[in-house]
Amino acid sequence: MPGDTDAATRLPVIDGWFADDDSGDTHLIAGKCVKCGTYVFPPRTDNCPNPGCDGDELTQVPLARRGTLWSYTENRYAPPPPYPSPDPFEPFAVAAVQLADEGLIILGKVVEGTLAADLKIGMEMELTTMPLFTDDEGVERITYAWKVAE
Ligand SMILES: [Zn+2]
Repeated sequence: MPGDTDAATRLPVIDGWFADDDSGDTHLIAGKCVKCGTYVFPPRTDNCPNPGCDGDELTQVPLARRGTLWSYTENRYAPPPPYPSPDPFEPFAVAAVQLADEGLIILGKVVEGTLAADLKIGMEMELTTMPLFTDDEGVERITYAWKVAE
């Protein structure tokens, strides 16, 4: 808003999928069934994904920040509009990371500078964020991403 000196300059692309904890580390947010404990990502508040459970209340919980690389690929073609894409297009890797405790596989972009040739199944991956694009108001929109764990 005009005159608002505290206007955010960085915002998530999608609200409610990830957040920073007190130490500034980013974690994903999942829905967890209060009845059977099944996790679901992206998070939702009802409709347990477990076909054997009729639970209809899911709490929002943080997910582990590290997981194991389960699969990956490299995108060499710019996505069609309306998906934002840098010009010129730069290839990027996409990783599917398995979170053992939660029983989830989370698909996400891999940070700039890491391509498929740098990845190996079974590697430990860590969650981070990266800018995706800058919107019309000059706000940098960020998304979650995977990087090779240090
Ligand atoms: Zn359930």
